[in-house]
Amino acid sequence: MSQQTAVTTHHIPEDLPTRIQHFIDGAFVDSVSGATFDVLDPVSNEIYATAAAGQKEDIDLAVAAATRAFKQGPWPRMKPRERARVLNRIADAVEAQDKRLAELETFDTGLPITQALGQAQRAAENFRFFADLIVAQSDDAYKVPGSQLNYVNRKPIGVAGLITPWNTPFMLESWKLAPALASGCTVVLKPAEFTPLSASLWAGIFRDAGLPDGVFNLVNGLGEEAGDALVKHPDVPLISFTGESRTGQLIFGNAAPYLKGLSMELGGKSPAVVFADADLDAAIDSTLFGVFSLNGERCTAGSRILVERPIYDEFLARYAERAKNIVVGDPHDPATEVGALVHPEHYEKVMSYVELGKQEGRLLAGGGRPEGLDTGNYVAPTVFADVAPDARIFQEEIFGPVVAITPFDSDVEALELANGVKYGLAAYIWTNDLQRAHTFAQSVEAGMVWLNSHNVRDLRTPFGGVKASGLGHEGGYRSIDFYTDQQAVHITL
Ligand code: NAD
Repeated sequence: MSQQTAVTTHHIPEDLPTRIQHFIDGAFVDSVSGATFDVLDPVSNEIYATAAAGQKEDIDLAVAAATRAFKQGPWPRMKPRERARVLNRIADAVEAQDKRLAELETFDTGLPITQALGQAQRAAENFRFFADLIVAQSDDAYKVPGSQLNYVNRKPIGVAGLITPWNTPFMLESWKLAPALASGCTVVLKPAEFTPLSASLWAGIFRDAGLPDGVFNLVNGLGEEAGDALVKHPDVPLISFTGESRTGQLIFGNAAPYLKGLSMELGGKSPAVVFADADLDAAIDSTLFGVFSLNGERCTAGSRILVERPIYDEFLARYAERAKNIVVGDPHDPATEVGALVHPEHYEKVMSYVELGKQEGRLLAGGGRPEGLDTGNYVAPTVFADVAPDARIFQEEIFGPVVAITPFDSDVEALELANGVKYGLAAYIWTNDLQRAHTFAQSVEAGMVWLNSHNVRDLRTPFGGVKASGLGHEGGYRSIDFYTDQQAVHITL
């Protein structure tokens, strides 16, 4: 099937590093063992850099630096207003680097440049938001009639271990860094090994903003090595993890002997439910965006679309036509709407689902590599119709530009289909019946629901999933709660 493609000369950013290091105690360093791993450009799949492959001894050094900074340094003891000033300077510096960040992110991850631009603003907003929150924070106090005053003494927990995935890596790192630092914790960040490029930017930004040495530490490396050592380090009392559900299960088990605090943002297979009374133009725009933006490599992707029978055929025809017209091409080309998937291993995984889908559903668009893009991790936006609820492409997270569409006949059936997977991250409901929208929202098993809308969220709201999509919610004061201990102090009056 033909697909629009944009073929341009591949853009290589200027001053691209060929060596990516750790950042420990205020200095860039290699692994103690000298070990490295290769980092690939998703357009050529050629190695463009080697990154330090952190092992247990590198994690030990990073945790020791973070522990010193926590026990002896000024950061946890600073007044919220003083910490907020540093966070605001970080936000300004992040925002000022939008173009450079977008260029690096696009090069490293394969995201279309138009979608990578603006990620820096979103990251900066996280720092501004948590700067405001810690200054505005009030703690509880209770007067116990006739006897006591009780109040809550909030304290940063210590060294936070932050483990992040490769989709929009810099922005997702900011979700963890901003509340952890705002709370007064010191941190060790372990970014995803597919995309280590942009994380190094934090080091310069933090240093220029006045973050003391040792507060932020970065260890690159493989999950099973550096990530595993961080999870098992006895001096790291909490882990904030974003990644696949099965990695989350492994981390849950590995952290258990240490009784660590865990926050887990995991995978999804989110439904978009389109009722016959919906604004169809808006629903089609949104459901296309929901699964094909960010190359479909989006945790909240609406990767299952459930459509009420009376509009099913019209929806399929219009949706498939639009999907075929999505421009796939070089991520740096401003015309590109779907770029290259992050890594050949991930490309193989997505392609295996595309092949499986040809047995499990009716192929309406895409179905393989787009014509004219013979190298690189390109997958044409792929649409399968008539997908049964027990199909693997209905049940399993694909994390690419592939969507399964299924018809339904009643509200009850729509809810059963929506809830009939192990995940519960997001749900999107399209209907003009207000009562139905709210009733459905309350019954759907999803941490976040969008009614006639998508993906815009206020930073004060909870972010997180239910079932296999996560453990705990972050966002607003929930994040501050995660990174702080709340000690109750009782005084007899
Ligand atoms: P992944 O689970 O493979 O890796 C995530 C991180 O965990 C990486 O840094 C990796 O090195 C590390 N890791 C792997 N094994 C580990 C181990 N044994 N111990 C410690 N760390 C380990 O996930 P990914 O492929 O990088 O990211 C994609 C996944 O992330 C998708 O499932 C997606 O839905 C999910 N995600 C969820 C959210 C959310 O907010 N719910 C947001 C973005 C991505």
